[in-house]
Amino acid sequence: MGAKIAKPLLVLGGGIGGVAAALSLARRGRRVHVLEKAPDLTEIGAGLQLAPNAMRVLDRLGVLDRIKDVAVFPQTLMLLDIATAKRLKTVDLGPAFIARYGYPYIVMHRSDLLAILVEACRDSGLVSFETNKEAVAIEDLHDSAELSCRDGSVYRTEALIAADGLWSLARRTLFSDDPVQTPKYVAYRGTIPISEITLYARPDDLLIWAGPEMHLVQYPVRGGKLYNQVAVFKSDRFRSDSDDWGTPEELDQHFSKACPYVIEAVKEVGRGRRWPLFDRNPIAHWARNRVVLLGDAAHPMLQFLAQGACQALEDGVCIADCMDRHMPDVARAFVAFQNTRFLRATRVQMTARFFEHFWHPKDAAADLRNAYLASHAPDDYAEFDWVYGTRGDGQPCLESNRPLFTDETWATQI
Ligand SMILES: Cc1cc2nc3c(=O)[nH]c(=O)nc-3n(C[C@H](O)[C@H](O)[C@H](O)COP(=O)(O)OP(=O)(O)OC[C@H]3O[C@@H](n4cnc5c(N)ncnc54)[C@H](O)[C@@H]3O)c2cc1C
Repeated sequence: MGAKIAKPLLVLGGGIGGVAAALSLARRGRRVHVLEKAPDLTEIGAGLQLAPNAMRVLDRLGVLDRIKDVAVFPQTLMLLDIATAKRLKTVDLGPAFIARYGYPYIVMHRSDLLAILVEACRDSGLVSFETNKEAVAIEDLHDSAELSCRDGSVYRTEALIAADGLWSLARRTLFSDDPVQTPKYVAYRGTIPISEITLYARPDDLLIWAGPEMHLVQYPVRGGKLYNQVAVFKSDRFRSDSDDWGTPEELDQHFSKACPYVIEAVKEVGRGRRWPLFDRNPIAHWARNRVVLLGDAAHPMLQFLAQGACQALEDGVCIADCMDRHMPDVARAFVAFQNTRFLRATRVQMTARFFEHFWHPKDAAADLRNAYLASHAPDDYAEFDWVYGTRGDGQPCLESNRPLFTDETWATQI
């Protein structure tokens, strides 16, 4: 075996969470090394909705101008009945929304976001990346952590931030081997050039067509050049021991019950790859000596609130804040991060689960949902404050309103 490679600060995973954390740490003058198992630092998938809580963080990371160049700024979020095309609710995302939260609600291509974050990391001169580096073992050595890769290389670090996603090796090995959970939904998604859209795509709207056990989300990305569509439905063929569920045939069968506009639109959604929707039960412990979980590794959530990447971005700035406050005590910084973040992330995770029922009700439950929506004006934003808002002093609301644990009780947590 070759010599162990020493890296004082190591991030595992070059997704949005890991790269945002690396950039945030670099902004505080810290040198970071990122390991990614894929051959390239790129995102597969399509569009991403980024709410004001994510925009606030991107501003702190100093990349907002670049983001604005490629983002789209919808003026309304519209919820429509998927069968009748009746408009159920409009949320005004215009000036009143921006004035309330200080930032707009944007949509963009997820690979554009990652590319901007990676470029900012490289420009900082403090972040180095290695791709084709798949971690296969992680050891907590109390005063350090050791990470072994499939190619035989071994890294020794004083601080390991594990941002290795839903299937996190770090979570499984050192924290919790809890099974993934699924509401048996699957997503098909993709973008097509806006010029190829056969039906009128509304450039200023984020559209959500919702009905029993299915919905379609539509919005433009990449400065309006591409149109993004995500078709989501509950699979009748789900089996936990098989991958043969959520098939393209089921996609067509579900959406055949939709209105003609949606049926036509879904024909344009690629069938090449499906994304089963998974989350995990929340866990309260993300920090263990010199290892901490971040992003989906810590709090994987269903996409029904469009907050997974937003929360990973919040984690990215919070970890840098905590390291600033507590270094050189890495273990303490990691527990402070966990304590600051876990209730808020858990709230978002649990609310996302509830939103399965909010998007997909039928019969009386649909009447109840629609009556509730009708009782709120397009600029009534109170329901969003807890997740999009600030603490009141303009700072990001990274933590739960009432943390269970304070920094002072950190020692009891490990
Ligand atoms: C259909 C769908 C739509 C979504 N829409 C939205 C949305 O609109 N808004 C939003 O905020 N969120 C959305 N999300 C959620 C969002 O995509 C995720 O929460 C976010 O990407 C998590 O980022 P992450 O960096 O924590 O994890 P990941 O993106 O999973 O990144 C983990 C990285 O770690 C690498 N890795 C894993 N294991 C290893 C290993 N052993 N060794 C080395 N590298 C490793 C992976 O290759 C990957 O690059 C959506 C999710 C889905 C499925």
